Amino acid sequence: MQGNKELIFMQKYIFGNWKQNGDFALLHTMAEALRSQPDLKHHVAIFPPFVYLPEAQRLLANSAIAIGAQDVSPYEKGAYTGEISASMLKEVGCQYVLIGHSERRHVFGDSDQIVVEKFQQTQQAGLTPVLCIGETLEEFEAGRTKEVIHRQLKFVMENQNLISATADTSRHANLFLIAYEPVWAIGTGKAATSAQAQAVHAYIRSLISRVPILYGGSVKADNAAELLAMPDIDGLLIGGASLIPEQFLTILSGHY
Ligand code: PEP
Repeated sequence: MQGNKELIFMQKYIFGNWKQNGDFALLHTMAEALRSQPDLKHHVAIFPPFVYLPEAQRLLANSAIAIGAQDVSPYEKGAYTGEISASMLKEVGCQYVLIGHSERRHVFGDSDQIVVEKFQQTQQAGLTPVLCIGETLEEFEAGRTKEVIHRQLKFVMENQNLISATADTSRHANLFLIAYEPVWAIGTGKAATSAQAQAVHAYIRSLISRVPILYGGSVKADNAAELLAMPDIDGLLIGGASLIPEQFLTILSGHY
């Protein structure tokens, strides 16, 4: 098992979430910039909007860069106008799916139950969910961070039979990733300090030990290294800075 653990945590995960931004021009520029990186030291993935995924797959074919989707339908298939299923995402080359991003939870009202259903659909299609969790500013100020994190994690894990206080989590390796994203840090320019993020990551690790935990929330080229130096921060989920090729490239080419 030790060898397996080393494999999972050897590289940092550098993921770029484009949200509802970008266009074909940015996709081409970014793909070319990414492909021209000589030796990628980290595991890199981009999450452009759905409509750009087939082109992303074409541009990044035979490269080390993975692609992922920002959301997925909670249903397998059927009369759900406007929805995109996990198997469709697989067919266009996705490896990852963001599940429960704070904008889905807070702008579009995704409940804990919907998050579980999306998580299950993703795994059933053979894709890797990136489960996003994090507290709001109000919850942070009320000192409720751990309670919120615990609730969000427990809801998904219990439904997966994956967690209990005494569970052996070693077998969960690579089944999914977690992204801790304090809502008050997303898109605000006010990132958690490395110490704040490390404390929450250590808490998450105490609940579920062998799953990579990424930090997200106002990560830029100038705070990435400090965050990644923390023992329990295994990678970064980057929004705004992932739309700026120089920023994203600077982050993913660093030695951490
Ligand atoms: C995100 O979209 O998940 C995110 C963390 O955004 P930003 O980096 O812009 O705060």
